[in-house]
Amino acid sequence: MSKPVGTEIDVDLDKLAERGANLCGEDHFFVRSCSLCQGQYLYNREVNDVYFDPDDLGRHFFDIEGLPLPPCRYCGNINWSFSSQPPDLLAIQAGVWGWVLKRHSFTFGADED
Ligand SMILES: [Zn+2]
Repeated sequence: MSKPVGTEIDVDLDKLAERGANLCGEDHFFVRSCSLCQGQYLYNREVNDVYFDPDDLGRHFFDIEGLPLPPCRYCGNINWSFSSQPPDLLAIQAGVWGWVLKRHSFTFGADED
């Protein structure tokens, strides 16, 4: 992998589909954060989809090189990028995307593969 895209998570696909996520069947979900305010975004790497609103998955944008990002949902900045230090699992569980996790884990030292 060339660059870190975020923290990969196991998601509950049924819940995502219920809320209108665009799934391709080979989905890999990550949580990424704003480099300025640490606000969290859900990202489906297979289709370059970034979900903007945890309550309405119809709101999303594409993260494609050369395409500008919309203003950050959280801090409103137009010159933001995704942080190279994505949130850890505990921060994700506690954050706005916690509901998409397939299971909540309170163990430490989960393996990286
Ligand atoms: Zn922000």
